[in-house]
Amino acid sequence: MQLTKQTLNQHTDQVYDVLVVGGGAAGLSAGIYLQRYLLSTLIIDKGKARSHWMQELHNYLGLPADTPGRDVLKQGKAHYLSLDGDYLNGYVEDVIDEGETFAVHVRIGRTNPTYAVFRSRYLIAASGIIDHLPKLADMQNVFEYAGHNLHVCLICDGYEMRDKRAGVFGNSESSLEVAFPLGWFTPHITLFTNGEFEVSPAFRDRLQTHGYQLVEQPIKQFIGENHQMSGVELADGSIIELDAGLVSMGSKYHADYLKQIDLEYQSGNLITDKMNRTSHPRIFAVGDLKVGMNQVVIAAADGALAATQIWRDIRRAEGTRRSPTSSIAA
Ligand SMILES: Cc1cc2nc3c(=O)[nH]c(=O)nc-3n(C[C@H](O)[C@H](O)[C@H](O)COP(=O)(O)OP(=O)(O)OC[C@H]3O[C@@H](n4cnc5c(N)ncnc54)[C@H](O)[C@@H]3O)c2cc1C
Repeated sequence: MQLTKQTLNQHTDQVYDVLVVGGGAAGLSAGIYLQRYLLSTLIIDKGKARSHWMQELHNYLGLPADTPGRDVLKQGKAHYLSLDGDYLNGYVEDVIDEGETFAVHVRIGRTNPTYAVFRSRYLIAASGIIDHLPKLADMQNVFEYAGHNLHVCLICDGYEMRDKRAGVFGNSESSLEVAFPLGWFTPHITLFTNGEFEVSPAFRDRLQTHGYQLVEQPIKQFIGENHQMSGVELADGSIIELDAGLVSMGSKYHADYLKQIDLEYQSGNLITDKMNRTSHPRIFAVGDLKVGMNQVVIAAADGALAATQIWRDIRRAEGTRRSPTSSIAA
C-alpha cells in the first residue's frame, strides 16, 4: 500500500523483511520479486529517478523504442502495489546497523517534514546516481535539452547519434575520452571544454589524428526548439551547429545514507558479488549505484538477483513456509 504521513505510524512498529531505498527500475524490480516470494517489503523513494529523465527507452526487449522512462516507473509501481508491497515517498537520511535489523531514518515531505524510523532485516540500496550537467548561467536552458537530444549515456544513445554532428561536453580531459568510442557511431565530433580546463598537447594530437574539433571558449547557451538542441552559442556570440550532444561529466552517487556502514566501493559504486550482495551480508546493491552497466535491463535483472538471494537466505534460515502477511514483531 502507498503509505502517507497519516498512516505511516501503523508501519513503524513492524520489522520488514526488506527495505529498498529507491523506487527506480532496480528497486521496483526487486520489490516485485520480493513480494512474489511472500516477503514483506517497503520501498522508500524520493522521486525523480534517473529513468524519469529518460525520454525514450530505446533498447528494452518487448517495449516500443519510444517508451518514456516515466511510463516504466508508473507501470512498475502499480505492479508492485498490486502485490501488496508498501511504498513511501520519502528521503532516507541514515541507516544504522543494529545487528539483527537496520534502523532506517526517513524524512517525509519538504515543507513541515515528518521524521520516521523503519526497521528491516535486509536492505537493498537501489538509490542510483544522477548525471552532472554543463554549468551554464541559465540552467533552465540546459534542462530544456538534457535527456532529449542532449544525451548523457553513450551505450543508450550512441545509435541515436549515428552520422550526426555531435558535441561532446566534458569537465576534464579524461571525461572527453568518450569522444573516441562515440567515433564508432559518427565521425563528426566537436569537443567542448566550456573554458573550464586545459587540454594537453598529447590529447590535441589524438583529436587531430581523428579529425575531431576542439572548442575551448565558454558556452553562453544551447540553441534549438521543442527540446531539440541544434547547436551552441559561444561567449563571443559565434554559433556551432550540432544535431546532438553527449554530456560526459560524471555523476553524483546517492549513497550518503550508508555513511555509517563500512562498505566496499569502487570509485562511487558499491562492489557486489554476482547476486548483488555487498561486503555487508545483509545489504545488497542494485542498478546504477553498483559496479556494472547503467542500463534499465541490467537494473531490472539486478533487482531479481538480489531479491532471489535474500529469499534463499531467509528460507534457509527459517526452514518453513511463510504466510504472505507475516513479519517479525519489533
Ligand atoms: C537521459 C537518460 C537516458 C537514458 N536512456 C536509457 C536507454 O535508452 N536505455 C537504458 O537501458 N538506459 C537508459 N538510461 C539509464 C537508465 O535510466 C538507468 O540505468 C536506470 O534508470 C537505473 O535505474 P536505478 O533503479 O538504478 O536508478 P534510478 O532510476 O535513478 O532510481 C533510483 C531512485 O532512488 C531514489 N533515491 C536516491 N537517493 C535516495 C534516498 N536517499 N532516499 C530515497 N530515495 C532515494 C532516486 O530519487 C530515484 O528515484 C538513461 C538515463 C538517462 C539519465
